[in-house]
Amino acid sequence: MSVIQLDPTIVRPVPELIERGPLKLFIDGGWVAASTGETFESIDPATGEVLTTIANGSADDVDRAVRAARRAFEDPSWSEMAPYQRSRILLQIADVLEAHTDELATLNSRDMGGPFWLTRLEIGIAVEVFRHYAGWPTKLYGQVAPSDPSSFNYVLRQPLGVVAAITAWNGPSLQPAWKIAPALATGNTVVHKPADWSSLSAVRFAELLAETDLPRGVFNLVTGDGAGTGEALVRHPGVNKITFTGSTPVGRHIAEVASADFKHVTLELGGKGPVIVFADADLSQAARTAALGFCLGSGQGCVAGSRIFVHSSVKDEFRALLLEEMRSFTLGDPFDPASQMGPLASKQHYDRVKGYLDAARQHGATVESVGTTDSGLYLAPTLIENTTNDALTSREEIFGPVASLMEFTDFDEAIRAGNDTVYGLAATVFTRDLETAHRAARLLDAGTVWINTANEVSAGAMPFGGFKQSGIGREHGTQVLDAYTEVKSVIVRY
Ligand code: NAD
Repeated sequence: MSVIQLDPTIVRPVPELIERGPLKLFIDGGWVAASTGETFESIDPATGEVLTTIANGSADDVDRAVRAARRAFEDPSWSEMAPYQRSRILLQIADVLEAHTDELATLNSRDMGGPFWLTRLEIGIAVEVFRHYAGWPTKLYGQVAPSDPSSFNYVLRQPLGVVAAITAWNGPSLQPAWKIAPALATGNTVVHKPADWSSLSAVRFAELLAETDLPRGVFNLVTGDGAGTGEALVRHPGVNKITFTGSTPVGRHIAEVASADFKHVTLELGGKGPVIVFADADLSQAARTAALGFCLGSGQGCVAGSRIFVHSSVKDEFRALLLEEMRSFTLGDPFDPASQMGPLASKQHYDRVKGYLDAARQHGATVESVGTTDSGLYLAPTLIENTTNDALTSREEIFGPVASLMEFTDFDEAIRAGNDTVYGLAATVFTRDLETAHRAARLLDAGTVWINTANEVSAGAMPFGGFKQSGIGREHGTQVLDAYTEVKSVIVRY
């Protein structure tokens, strides 16, 4: 076992944006400081270094951004833009993102500690998301309804208006892409509030829009904290829709606030994914995939499979394989190509994760961190055993490279245990039997079920979202169109 030491020979790039701070808000096509002059710090979790400062948007700034988005929504340069031109702009955004992949990935790795290969992968998917949605503007059909011969009745699909996009820190470029691309494709305008722990790439994204033909005011960026900036945005009467990715408690609060004036909401919230390993599974493949499922991104993923249920007849064999896979992960500098896991995103988050491990120990569970010991904000893959599905660590989202290992003896028990959670975002099943796979897929309460794979999300084709307290609504798929449009019935009598 070794303690993490950052290798001084590894180059930690400093994009020009970082040297330029304090960073400003992007409102109505221009860059402005927060009206209060307030800023917050961006901190590199690998080193603790303050990278730069960023404007902390006030309620006045939010108001200006929402008004700008409203004006842009009503401006014919956007509202009457030909569908193919809207498609072209989405393709331009994809191209400009792609051309700046390394720079954006570097900003994310410095800001929230993700390994560079992973943050690069994220930008690549974000690019594909914009390309996917570039196909929609030219295919947003309405409907003609059946009617008697003296009338003509049709259904129009129209944009909602101003969309407030609020995102979490663990997917700093992907989450915004999942929201901004469909919102623009369907003709809405956007005010984005990124997470304060990972705002750098969002600022650069707004800058890069200058290289596209997106009209002024269609996209606005207000950086800041949740309680001030975010709260002002969700309360603003000029916002028609809130699309939010974040924790279940904040999602619940947003749903309550939004209900005051019936704003539309899409909520992508927390998860506590079950992983069910049936006795007939390919155990080596299951162990490798399950380990990746809760260690990828240091386990800071809503879809992390953090409750592993294994059939008692194969438990010992699977456990040994799982620990071996966990041991194989290399923790290190996000810019070291050999690093598979970086640090957790912040000191506050690291302390929270460690608190869960202490709680598990206090309740008599066995907590084993394998491979490299932790230091700084690094935490090695960790398995909790001798625990139950109703323990705190099985019920609450830990958001670190931590999973609980439990066992079951029959199919029904496995499904019951998997579903015994307030969450329902993603579930994973390992089996070689088709009937077991499809029965489990049907019975599990989850927006996504993976069979013999994990953590795969599409760049737009498959709907994504949660059952139960994992959220409301879906991103992607054809379902996303309902999330960003109103339908209007037009009845013509002649
Ligand atoms: P969080 O809920 O603390 O914050 C998310 C965003 O909401 C941030 O931008 C934050 O500033 C803002 N916010 C906080 N309080 C607010 C308020 N009162 N009004 C408006 N905005 C407010 O979540 P987090 O810690 O940044 O992210 C981790 C959480 O996100 C986890 O629970 C994870 O499961 C979830 N998540 C879900 C998905 C999904 O697609 N379902 C994806 C990634 C992350």
